[in-house]
Formats: sequence, structure tokens, C-alpha cells
Amino acid sequence: MDHDEFRRLGHQLIDWIASYRERMEKLPVMSPVKPGQVKARFPAEPPRRGGGAAAGLAGIDADILPGVTHWTHPSFFAYFPSNASYGSVLGDLLSSGLAAQGMSWQTAPAATELEEVVMGWLRQMLGLPPAFTGVIQDTASTATLCALLCARERTSGFAQNHGGLQGGGPPLTVYASDQSHASIEKAALLAGFGKDHLRLLGTDGRHALRLELLQAAIEKDKAAGRRPCAVVACVGTTATTSIDPVKGIAALAAKHGLWLHVDAAMAGTAMVLPECRVHWEGVEAADSLVVNPHKWMGIGFDFSAYFVRDPEHLVRVMSTNPSYLRTAQDGEVRNLRDWGIPLGRRFRALKAWLHLLDEGVEGMQARLRRDLANARWLVEQVGQTTDWELLAPVHFQTLCLRHVPTDQRDEKRLAAHNLAIAERVNRSGKAYVTPAVLKGKQMIRVSIGAESTERRHVEAVWGALRAAARTV
Ligand code: PLP
Repeated sequence: MDHDEFRRLGHQLIDWIASYRERMEKLPVMSPVKPGQVKARFPAEPPRRGGGAAAGLAGIDADILPGVTHWTHPSFFAYFPSNASYGSVLGDLLSSGLAAQGMSWQTAPAATELEEVVMGWLRQMLGLPPAFTGVIQDTASTATLCALLCARERTSGFAQNHGGLQGGGPPLTVYASDQSHASIEKAALLAGFGKDHLRLLGTDGRHALRLELLQAAIEKDKAAGRRPCAVVACVGTTATTSIDPVKGIAALAAKHGLWLHVDAAMAGTAMVLPECRVHWEGVEAADSLVVNPHKWMGIGFDFSAYFVRDPEHLVRVMSTNPSYLRTAQDGEVRNLRDWGIPLGRRFRALKAWLHLLDEGVEGMQARLRRDLANARWLVEQVGQTTDWELLAPVHFQTLCLRHVPTDQRDEKRLAAHNLAIAERVNRSGKAYVTPAVLKGKQMIRVSIGAESTERRHVEAVWGALRAAARTV
């Protein structure tokens, strides 16, 4: 492809993306394809001759689009909002075009320094104190793994960094609630703690970690000679957006010398609103914290904001310094390869920069408040019915609902009934919700927050759920 063809195809592609977004509302939210259907449209062998990019792009509508579930569709209420604003899309395009590799400051000074700038902006937007320094990770899963690796090394006096698994010593233990995201368990396993040393503790009626259970578990482990190492507090759990008591957890962490990591992957974005910050009182005591701007905030995947109180731990655990990576500026700059697991780093800051320039803090606050108001409206509607109930408090934009027909209390039947409702709505293509199980009860999660979702879309999904409840 030469420069002129790139220009021509690039303009066409931008036009295609804009028209896709314009007409998206008419497309079925959840992809209706069957397994294998997309694969079957492509040759099994690689193209021998080049020159086929134009033909490939001409086939997007037929070959790719049917197999896409539209995460930015205004009636996308599944999982979590995963917005990618136009500003962020342009930033991603620029990042690809520049093809900068930000492993060291010298290999891409602008990538390193713009990352420092946007992470500073995000820190302020989230109301975090200046003691925190931010770095971009690909996902919250990676950020949490980094946190647990740092915790492990701090508690063991960096012994694991030397002796590794052969280093010996009593086992290290990690604590989180039974509502914490699966990435916590995965990180604990990958960081070598082992399933036997991960304590997933019970939660209260609001699905938040019970402090007395945390205290008892730490004391029990200590008495048995184990070494309590890290606790993960969640602000906005995946199932219900419940909020762990961060302040109390921080006090216990300080008392027993545990690393406190806060997982605010989904709900952290709400902290752009000062009125929501009551939900993370105590967060300033965290050793590390993760928020996913690639969810509700609008910066396209992948962009996870990882904040640490003392970067020294991260750098000590992650740094590699072979001769071919050393540069003259090493003493005076950040080499971001030492702030995470991969050596190579994309210029992700561009998409945050353009998203924030385009939307502005005030624009974002207005959008988030719109979504919270839409969630409150839906809560009111549920409250006005006798046959629908909420299974969890609604702190932000996620509702956990279920339909309970009169006199129906059999959990198995209720589960089948609610599963059928969710499936009916999802198959219709008109909206997309997530069926999930909360403490043995089948629920339907409605997560509001796509950039294009207006009140009318929330009204429509509510209508669709009730219609499905009448007919399944
Ligand atoms: N933590 C919470 C609370 C989440 O809701 C999620 C994703 O839904 C994650 C972690 C994992 O996020 P990621 O896909 O960025 O690893």
C-alpha cells in the first residue's frame, strides 16, 4: 500500500466508522451469528499475493459486522459500559500511525511524557491525592497482578525476587471478598500465592466485605504462622457494584502491615463526580489502586489507570536493565517498561488526551450524571411494580433485577424464568442485558452507561423486560 492508497482507504474507513455509529441503533445489539459462521467467510490459507486490503475493507459489512456485538449501542446494557469516544478512536489511530514504541523515555519521549500528563489529569479528576503516581496498564487484571507482585515482594523483603519459589519462608496470604472479580483470584494464582492462601471472605446484605471476617482471618493466619500480605478492597464489585468498607480495611491493613490494593475498575469513573467520592473514603491510604477508563469513562479499550503510592516497589520488582536498553537519560526520566510487565508499550496516552480534550471534565460529569439519573429512574419504576425486585442496592448505574411472579418462590423456577426473560430480550436484538447469579439467585443485570444511551433507551429496555416477563 502506498501513501496515496492509504490516504484513500483511510478516508473511506473513517467515513465507514462514522456511518456505522450513525446507523448502529438499527443493528441487533448482540451478534446473532452461530459459532463458526464468521470463520467460514474467510479462506483457510493466507493470501499469497498482496494488494487485497481494499477488497477486504469493502467486505466489512458482509464479513465482519454480523459477528460484532455492538458495545457502544445505545441499548447495550450488558456487562459494563465500554465506551470508545470519537476522540479516543482518533487517538488510537494516531498511535498506530506513529507506531511509537515507548519502552524507554528515549525510544518515545512524547509517549512517556504525555502519559505522565494524562495520568496526572486523571488523578486529579478522580480526586486522588498528589501522593499517587499513575501509569497506564492494558487491563485491570494486569494492574492487580502488578499490585500483588509488589505486595509479595514488600512482605518478603524482596526475597521472592531473589530466591523465587525456592526462597522458602511461611506462606503469604491474600484477602478479598467473595464478590471480588475473578481477576483477583487469577492474580493471586499467577503471583504464586496459591489458591490455598487466598481468602475470599463473606459479604453482608449489601454484598460488601465484612470487616470482622477480615480481622478474624488475618488473626487466624498469623496465629498459624502464616504471613498476611495483601488485601484487595473493591469499590464497585462486578456483579452488583457493591462497595467494600475501604476505610476500615485500610485501618486493618495498616495495623497488620498488609498491602492495600483497591479495585475500582468499573465504578472508579464515578469518582469524577465529587458527590460520589463518599464511596471511596479511605482510599488515600491504599498502596495501589486501579480504575478502568476503558469502561464507562469513554477511553477505548485498552486503557487501565494504575496508581501507586510508592513507585519504588513497582520499579524494583519490574525493572530489567540489560545493556541494550540503557540510555544516557536513565537517571532523570521514567522508563515505563519498569512500571509494568511488558517491555513494549503502545502510545496509549493519545487516546486519553484526545478524549479528555474533546469531552472535558464538565462534559464527562454531565454524561455520568445523566446515566446515574437514568439508573435512578429505573429503580423508581421497579419500585412501583409488585412483581419485580432489586437484589442489591444501586450505588451507581448498575441494577440487579429479577421478576418474581405472584406466589412464585421456588428458586429453581424463578431462575429458569429470569434466564428466559434475559434470553428473550437478548435474542430480540433490541437490547442486551446480562443474566447472572447472585448468592444463589438468578438475576438480570442492567448496566447503564453507553455514551449514546438516553432515557428513551432505558424506557425501552424496561418495556422489553416486562413484555418478556409476560410472555415467556
Ligand atoms: N475488576 C472489576 C471490578 C471489574 O468489573 C472488571 C471487569 O469487568 C475487572 C476487574 C477486570 O477488568 P479488565 O478486563 O480490565 O481486566
